[in-house]
Amino acid sequence: MTVSEYLTTLGDNPYFGAGFGLFGLGAGAAILRKGLQASLILFRRHYMITLEVPCRDKSYQWLLHWITVRGARKTQHLSVETTFEQHDTGHIKTKYDFIPSIGTHYFNHKGSWIKVERTREQHTLDLHMGVPWETVTLTSLGKNKGLYFDILEEARQMALTQTEGKTIMYTAMGPDWRPFGHPRKRRPLDSVILDTGISDRILSDVEDFLQAAAWYGDRGIPYRRGYLLHGPPGCGKSSYITALAGELSFGICVLNLSDRGLTDDRLNHLLSVAPQNTIILLEDIDAAFVSREDSAQAKTAYEGLNRVTFSGLLNCLDGVASTEARIVFMTTNYVERLDPALVRPGRVDVKEYIGFCTEPQLKKMFTRFYQTVSPDLPDKFARNVLAQSKNVSAAQIQGYFMRHKADSPNVVAENVKEIWEE
Ligand code: ADP
Repeated sequence: MTVSEYLTTLGDNPYFGAGFGLFGLGAGAAILRKGLQASLILFRRHYMITLEVPCRDKSYQWLLHWITVRGARKTQHLSVETTFEQHDTGHIKTKYDFIPSIGTHYFNHKGSWIKVERTREQHTLDLHMGVPWETVTLTSLGKNKGLYFDILEEARQMALTQTEGKTIMYTAMGPDWRPFGHPRKRRPLDSVILDTGISDRILSDVEDFLQAAAWYGDRGIPYRRGYLLHGPPGCGKSSYITALAGELSFGICVLNLSDRGLTDDRLNHLLSVAPQNTIILLEDIDAAFVSREDSAQAKTAYEGLNRVTFSGLLNCLDGVASTEARIVFMTTNYVERLDPALVRPGRVDVKEYIGFCTEPQLKKMFTRFYQTVSPDLPDKFARNVLAQSKNVSAAQIQGYFMRHKADSPNVVAENVKEIWEE
């Protein structure tokens, strides 16, 4: 049998013919599918724009909030973020923020339909924050990248107006600073009553420093200034720094040097990436180190732990090189425990003692609290308190006033012995 005769015989075979037909159909479908995939890719590449925002990015929370407020209001799929705010009075306010849930949402922005996909990787953790890794992807038709700039800018502006007139506190998370808690209402500077002149001295020093960028630049001196507030607890060190930040419209980056996991390298990195217009606050600086002159035994207790070393801190303070003004505030209840190397000029440029209440402070606090009193009542109150010859902190006075806020100022000025009873 010749080859052509063989093929004719095969062609006449009905089973073979059907198989061949099926094969042809399958191949056709596969080609079509590939073609469709390729054209979808081409379409996506040329006629769709996507923006992917990972949860590590600063704009992530702004964007989620913006999407909820502006676009996805009508979506029925929300997730909730609950936050507490505890006030000095102990009152707790709970706030619920709705944000688009994991999944797909659609909304219209300036005539363009945008698909929002919020995805969460259950198996990948953001190592620094310990939360599941999330991303938000926006997809829209067209080629206009400006749309996304527009959205990001609007989201940023919205976040800014929310924090206007408020003080943002930042805390260190891994290598980054993250806003922590709700932005706090600014505390007026004159609500923290310090001994005469202290507040004005610090404020004018900070203001002079902020004006002096060129002076530092010309002399090649690192543009930073260190402040140390020391004195007994409850006298207003932290409150003053918060109020000062509010006055300057600055945020506060709070660092706890005794944190495990805070190494020299991390501290150095954090200081160099602190957000602009913030005060860096190192609280209770004495607790992190024992003076070098103290026992070698205490020093060895720290060895092997993942902590900041004293020389590491000094290096970090000296090395904070930034074109931005860097203001570092440190507080301590025990100034005598600090190593002299830490408090030398260049590291601590301004040192102020924030102590127990003096006569002018007592008078001012009384007047501020009981606003409509005759002028001699504050004098009487101050006289009575000082006659006890006992140290009293502003926090104790505040507590005493709070307990008697409904009582007559006259009684309050008399019964001062109660201050020490709590
Ligand atoms: P410190 O940091 O010195 O330990 P805080 O600033 O934490 O003290 O003060 C504790 C509480 O006492 C705060 O609620 C604050 O409002 C109040 N307080 C302390 N000092 C003053 C002050 N000088 N003027 C007004 N309130 C004060």
